[in-house]
Amino acid sequence: MERTLVENTVELLGEKVLLQGWAQNIRTMGKIAFIELRDRSGDVQCVAYMPDFETNGTNEIKETTMESAIEIIGEVKQRPEKQINKDKKTGGVEIEIKEFRLLNKSEGLPIPVAGDGYDINENARLKYRYLDLRRERLQKNLRSRSKLIDALRQELFQKDFVEVETPLLTYSTKEGARDFVVPSRMNPGNFYALPQSPQQYKQLLMTAGIERYFQVAKCIRDENLRADRGFEFTQLDLEMSFVDREMVMNTVEEAVKNSMKKVGGVLKDEKFPVFTYKEAQEKFGADKFDLRTEEEKEKGILAFAWVVDFPFFKRVDKEDAAEVEDGKSGWTFTHNPFSASKEEFLDDHLNRKNIENILTPQHDLVCNGYEVGGGGIRAHTAEMVEATYKIMGYSEEEIKESIGHMLKAFRLGTPPHGGIALGIDRLVMLLNNESSLKETIAFPMTYNGHTAVMDGPSELSEKQLKELHLKKKFIEISYT
Ligand code: ASP
Repeated sequence: MERTLVENTVELLGEKVLLQGWAQNIRTMGKIAFIELRDRSGDVQCVAYMPDFETNGTNEIKETTMESAIEIIGEVKQRPEKQINKDKKTGGVEIEIKEFRLLNKSEGLPIPVAGDGYDINENARLKYRYLDLRRERLQKNLRSRSKLIDALRQELFQKDFVEVETPLLTYSTKEGARDFVVPSRMNPGNFYALPQSPQQYKQLLMTAGIERYFQVAKCIRDENLRADRGFEFTQLDLEMSFVDREMVMNTVEEAVKNSMKKVGGVLKDEKFPVFTYKEAQEKFGADKFDLRTEEEKEKGILAFAWVVDFPFFKRVDKEDAAEVEDGKSGWTFTHNPFSASKEEFLDDHLNRKNIENILTPQHDLVCNGYEVGGGGIRAHTAEMVEATYKIMGYSEEEIKESIGHMLKAFRLGTPPHGGIALGIDRLVMLLNNESSLKETIAFPMTYNGHTAVMDGPSELSEKQLKELHLKKKFIEISYT
């Protein structure tokens, strides 16, 4: 017998069906047992006359505990008018259980699965994340995330983009955070860096003639944790050749608008308003802002807007270790060391003059008060990138060592190009009216950097250390 999904039972009145799922709720009233069976499509009430299920003194229905995996063969019955639950898709039917199998009995639950779960201690939720994820709200969030990624992919494929994967074990990429590093067994004393973003590789794919690239990319940054996020996040990363900023913005705007609408998002504006950084500062006092009225907020409407023309450079924040390291001269980039400067500032940029006023053709996408994307037109000549690094105080030698490979590529016919990276976790968060990124990620980290379910980070064994040519010795340092 083939399995029927719960949501389809409503069309199968009078028929015998095989259902498989979890016992979400169990109630007994005298000799009658009511079991709510839940599968990926929903839940439905099933009813059994208990004495029918007694065999040799055992009764699997009686033994069934909440959240056990179960299988039922039963007949779909119309519920009497008075018992119809109008709020539920399956509220008009009931399954009369004919055969019952307890597939895997659940022990007492460490956390409840019913309800929205907001009030449960976060460490417990993350330790038992596989149970936490059974709750309806998180099921909905994960499914909505998958649908959004699918919609974005379809949009980009239609626009002739190619999905390309770039390495995870790589060389330091600067996105203004510390790198996570991985020791190399084969190269004693050397370390790979995990990518803070695929920025350099995507630009090299433009050199490579891909012209339109995208990737659903994991980015890993060792930055100070905030309550709602961990060290990794997911970007929809894209890059295009032979484009100006308006072309990138139009492409991204169309893809975002169509995809968000396709997965149920309601947008405030069909055409995203554009503010310069200066206008945004004057109007909102920030480069991310919320354009919704109170009423729109209540309705969960999405208000996208662009912010453009950012200052290229800023003074180093001495409290920020990554900035201090990047900005040896006291200047560092505001967004990306591979940005171009706006045409009217190219001379200043190349001659390293008027630094505080140089603008970059950067475009950030904001939505409901959050930055949901950042990108821009890039430097595609070696001179431009070199000038940026010199402004930050790098010597010729240091430039060669850190980005010599990019300079070489930029001397081999790299076309003008630009792109963006969209924060998938954020988009899904806003789409589902959540206020923490963790609610959109299957296995997020705890607030103090421990992995969900499994207890990472952990120590290495002596054997592993030896293989990696490492010796344990802790050095006291104070963090900024
Ligand atoms: N690589 C940049 C970031 O991760 C985004 C971009 O400029 O495309 O912030």
